[in-house]
Amino acid sequence: MKKKQIYVTEPSLPEVEEFIPYLKDIWETKWLTNNGKYHKQLEVDMADYLGVDYISLFTNGTLALITALQALNIKGEVITTPYTFVATANSLIWNNLKPVFVDVDPIYGNLDPDLIEAAITPRTTAILPVHVYGFPANVSRIQEIAQKHKLRVIYDAAHAFGVCLDGESILNHGDLSILSFHATKVYNTMEGGAIISHDAATKQHIDQLKNFGFMNEISVVAHGINSKMNEMQAALGLLQLKYHKSNIDRRAEIAELYHTGLSKIAGIRLASSPAGLSNYNYGYYPIFISESIYGQSRDSLYHYLKTQDIIARRYFYPLISQYSAYQEIGAASQLSVPTAEKISKEVICLPIYPELDPEDVLRIIDLIKEYRSH
Ligand SMILES: *Cc1c(COP(=O)(O)O)cnc(C)c1O
Repeated sequence: MKKKQIYVTEPSLPEVEEFIPYLKDIWETKWLTNNGKYHKQLEVDMADYLGVDYISLFTNGTLALITALQALNIKGEVITTPYTFVATANSLIWNNLKPVFVDVDPIYGNLDPDLIEAAITPRTTAILPVHVYGFPANVSRIQEIAQKHKLRVIYDAAHAFGVCLDGESILNHGDLSILSFHATKVYNTMEGGAIISHDAATKQHIDQLKNFGFMNEISVVAHGINSKMNEMQAALGLLQLKYHKSNIDRRAEIAELYHTGLSKIAGIRLASSPAGLSNYNYGYYPIFISESIYGQSRDSLYHYLKTQDIIARRYFYPLISQYSAYQEIGAASQLSVPTAEKISKEVICLPIYPELDPEDVLRIIDLIKEYRSH
């Protein structure tokens, strides 16, 4: 029998029996979308769970990002990172904004605050950092720079569900933050997303934007889009919230196994925990391969693991600025991003999810140990 393939992640789901009563209720009431009771409940419960003021639920994270930029009426140039999922920069293009890619720090792969100011021009209006792998970007330095230059800050917090810095939700930083509840994220509603805002008026504006711009039945006050979350997504979200803490505990155990097994292999750097991180979500387990010391390239390790039915992923390779669609808009001819290029060639994200068998984790560790050439 062929061995089961182990992917970088596997979505967590509650028992289907637990979901069925919600489905029956939705079928009975025939309230399928448009701020239904599960949607309302999830906005309240999730804000409470995460320790934030206001949440607007979305059909996915990308539309949340596109709408966040609309909500703050961002124009011109936006400073962002090339070391992220392509949706970060695509959301700028969909708003007719110019992404300006600034290099990242070599440890976590987050936007390097020391390099932001040099990239600011008279056309710069905002900064769009990412909390890569759920590791907090340097929120205090970014805040200082934004204040000094009167820039807005929108965090792409797609990886940062439940992450706290110094005991407080990372989502309370910046003007807005967005979340993704895609199947591959630590908390999923199959597809889904959210915008976190800090005052009622902003939430109301965002809620209008995600519903065509309607303020009420007869008045449209903004050029909105349709990016509403439906009742099935919201009902699943309520159940997922119940199991989130225990899922994170399982992920933490797996991360600990990797950490113990991999920390003494020459040529492999593990991502260390940033200072002040008080709640981490273990959404990813990135390791960085130094070819000259490990004796094999990142790519050969990636392909070797594949032959052993371990489907790791090179998050994030290539950089956004290296994609052909971005070469065409001249993104590559902008600032140089040597650190992002370097870590993009070294990184490999290992499988991590609550139901991953510890035996499989130990096997992955052994494969990585054995493959090293001496
Ligand atoms: C997943 C992800 C998104 C997009 O979210 P979707 O819900 O898939 O639309 C945006 N940014 C980052 C960094 C992501 O990882």
